[in-house]
Amino acid sequence: MAKILVIAEHDGKTLNPSTAKCVACAAQVEAAEIDVVVLGSDTGTVASQAAELKSVARVVTVDNERSDPALAAVLAPQIVAMVDGYSHVFGPSTAFGKDLMPRVAALMGVNQISDVMSVEGSHRFKRPIYAGNAVVTVNAPTDHPVVATVRTASYQAVDIGNSAPVESISVDADLPSHTRFVELQTGASDRPDLQTAARVVSGGRALASKDNFELIYKLADTIGAGVGSSRAAVDAGYVPPETQVGQTGQIIAPDLYIAIGISGAIQHVTGIKDAGTIVAINKDEEAPIFEIADLGLVGDLFAIVPELTEALG
Ligand SMILES: Cc1cc2nc3c(=O)[nH]c(=O)nc-3n(C[C@H](O)[C@H](O)[C@H](O)COP(=O)(O)OP(=O)(O)OC[C@H]3O[C@@H](n4cnc5c(N)ncnc54)[C@H](O)[C@@H]3O)c2cc1C
Repeated sequence: MAKILVIAEHDGKTLNPSTAKCVACAAQVEAAEIDVVVLGSDTGTVASQAAELKSVARVVTVDNERSDPALAAVLAPQIVAMVDGYSHVFGPSTAFGKDLMPRVAALMGVNQISDVMSVEGSHRFKRPIYAGNAVVTVNAPTDHPVVATVRTASYQAVDIGNSAPVESISVDADLPSHTRFVELQTGASDRPDLQTAARVVSGGRALASKDNFELIYKLADTIGAGVGSSRAAVDAGYVPPETQVGQTGQIIAPDLYIAIGISGAIQHVTGIKDAGTIVAINKDEEAPIFEIADLGLVGDLFAIVPELTEALG
């Protein structure tokens, strides 16, 4: 039987939805017993949220002042100190998991399987390669634990309604001092988070300036959407990097994605493959974004977007 440890992602108060998606992936492994571990300095609130997730057998908390703020270099040795008996260790392929899980794998001396998008067997997984243009099936060795990140856009969060037992443990691990927290720089925004937003409005290079991006913000606010962007828009300084969608940005799966002045390069499209409905606004009817769009508007965004915003307002 598989015994799976899912690493909870949280900010000290709220469990990130990526954890419920990792649990959904873990639940695809036949006859799996799923534990969630919450590492932090005051884990009670987050642990009770994790205990509500369906399919979770047990929540384990590891309290340590050094785990707040969460540094991968400090969390990884604590996880490795408690993995005995587990056949799998799963984390999300978010920035948190991409930072943490390779350290866990390295300390355990195993290879990591990245971006699991479907479970074909207890040691057989599918994952995208070449910016999502091909899918490869990976067989993991069965003689040591599987360490994997889960492609959260491929999974729906498990429902809540469980009341799994919560158990507090302490672990004996040497925590390194070579990495220290300096500062967290994050864009303050009241808009929905890209990872969880049901609707996302994204702008590309065609916006041509930071000021013009107001058009995107206005439309997004009118329909209660999160704001995304192409890498070209980020590189040009129109928007902050955390808005970037795509291979080297965020992989998202909103119900509605509106791409405005974005050409549809494969590196961008790989970030929105799992979106429900894709709407594209582009003045070039040959733009590749129209190949994947469910609805397309050919025309000048500077004319279309204000009209659309007014119509929806
Ligand atoms: C390793 C690697 C990783 C990458 N990762 C990412 C990633 O994560 N995310 C990402 O987005 N890109 C990524 N890129 C970059 C990617 O290849 C493209 O360069 C980028 O997505 C282009 O951004 P864009 O569509 O905004 O700009 P462009 O390709 O310049 O497209 C602008 C579009 O706007 C249209 N347009 C112009 N004016 C108007 C107007 N007035 N009205 C309507 N439409 C108009 C044009 O017809 C064009 O289609 C990556 C590249 C590499 C090599």
